[in-house]
Amino acid sequence: MHKDPVCGMEVSEEKAGHLVHLDHETFYFCSEKCKESFEEKAGLKTAKKGFFKRFLDRLADENHKTYGNTKPKCH
Ligand SMILES: [Zn+2]
Repeated sequence: MHKDPVCGMEVSEEKAGHLVHLDHETFYFCSEKCKESFEEKAGLKTAKKGFFKRFLDRLADENHKTYGNTKPKCH
């Protein structure tokens, strides 16, 4: 049995469909909701989102510099 770190519920390994691997450790959750709340607290989601957003912003910025207000063309 593993303890859901979010709500404290006991989760059995074979039943747990919600798990997160982090730093060689596996965390088990009773529900998708608990898993998501854990990921949020651990900064997993925000980190990814933040990174991806910055990446997209940079791409948009570069496209804007290259193409100005004309429509970008692919090849
Ligand atoms: Zn839970």
